Amino acid sequence: MSISLTPIHAALEHPLPLDQHCFDEVLAKAREKKGLSLRETAFLLSISNPEWRSALFAEAGKIKDEIYGKRIVLFAPLYTSNRCINDCLYCGFRRTNKALVRKSLTVEEVRLQAMQLEAMGHKRLLLVAGEHPKEAAAAIIAQMVEAIYSSTDIRRLNVNCAPLSIDDFRILRDAQIGTYQLFQETYHPDTYAYLHPSGPKADYFNRLTAMDRAMEAGIDDVGLGVLFGLYDHRFEILALLEQARLLEERYGAGPHTVSVPRLKPAFESALTTVPHPISDESFKQIVAILRLAIPYTGLILSTRESAELRNELLHLGISQISAGSSTTPGGYSDPTKQAENLETTGSQFYLEDHRSLPEVALSVMEKGFIPSFCTACYRSGRTGEDFMALAKTGHIAQMCDPNALLTLQEYLLDYGDESLQKTGLVLIDQELARLPAGTAERLRQGLERLRCGERDIYI
Ligand code: SAM
Ligand code: SF4
Repeated sequence: MSISLTPIHAALEHPLPLDQHCFDEVLAKAREKKGLSLRETAFLLSISNPEWRSALFAEAGKIKDEIYGKRIVLFAPLYTSNRCINDCLYCGFRRTNKALVRKSLTVEEVRLQAMQLEAMGHKRLLLVAGEHPKEAAAAIIAQMVEAIYSSTDIRRLNVNCAPLSIDDFRILRDAQIGTYQLFQETYHPDTYAYLHPSGPKADYFNRLTAMDRAMEAGIDDVGLGVLFGLYDHRFEILALLEQARLLEERYGAGPHTVSVPRLKPAFESALTTVPHPISDESFKQIVAILRLAIPYTGLILSTRESAELRNELLHLGISQISAGSSTTPGGYSDPTKQAENLETTGSQFYLEDHRSLPEVALSVMEKGFIPSFCTACYRSGRTGEDFMALAKTGHIAQMCDPNALLTLQEYLLDYGDESLQKTGLVLIDQELARLPAGTAERLRQGLERLRCGERDIYI
């Protein structure tokens, strides 16, 4: 599916008047949780008035809360290979980076990495790989997925790998991956061509149509993204929204998630500067606007951003964050290496947030949110259109918070130290008091079953 750039240029070139009336109207429309048009989104992208920005931020936090409740889903990336046949100028894994130590994990090594992550308390992972016809082939990824599901308590495996054919996507679907994630990087064709000079990724259209092939292969949940900093973010956001709209029109469900990676320095990157730098303030505005424009889509934030900024973004609509991450294949074998950030030679780019999973979980709770390890929807068949139908009728929040609390209790029992347990149990009690009587009772029963040794309980 191609996207037309004409409506995007039209929305940018003919914005709504920058006045109070328009601002109030756009915010009122956002409150209906039916999304925003390209022109309305372009309008919000152009505002700089501090009062308007505060109102926008408050609305984004409120909408996230109304749809998903207080839960913030936690996950970790698992890099399986840094061998790559592409030459993306911004990436440490690019083919022409001769200084990078190359490593492709075997299926067994990937299984052991997953066990390390499981031992930290993770339940949800994202497999990530450079593009390689053999070492990141669909059949190999499927073997890795099967090995992890069959020998660990990891309950959802999402995948971020190069675009595949429909047949190869079927292999991933049959292995029961969760979300298939792929970032367009930039929707601007000339910028795309410059940044991706060779290899299969040079084909803009092949990348743009990957989600169609994934959906045609029966993968219900797909995740989009832009690599912010490569081109004008206003253009990128409108193009991403246009792709999301077309996916929904064609397949009945838009993207399950949108990620917001921001360009970071990479080892031996061919880019010496960020072509279109984005300040933290603009980045916050981008996240808040996405929450209003695609209210039902999960918004994913990685450890590319600092702990301080990540904490702020929790209030602006982010619903999933990674924690305790490494971007090096095999990087979880030695936790001290991660903490000291010595992973320079085999890693994809430099990370900003080096906190461990318990540190992130504690900070999420201190900010008033519930760390969630929940994977209930996917395992109850609530994916794609079915998930969106529940979200749009306001039913998903009724499941998210109790399930988040159940998984938090499980995490505290199995992995929490004293201080984490203390904070977590106070939070669980507070939330129990807030929930409707029937839900609270079901939750109490679930919590008791967990205390008695049962695991993996969800509503
Ligand atoms: N190789 C596949 C691809 O490119 O689609 C999948 C995995 S790639 C390792 C995951 C993502 O990392 C890319 O889509 C890109 O957006 C992001 N990335 C690459 N270099 C980056 C950098 N210097 N800073 C931040 N993110 C980067
Ligand atoms: Fe390879 Fe992906 Fe890095 Fe490009 S972004 S060089 S395709 S790993």
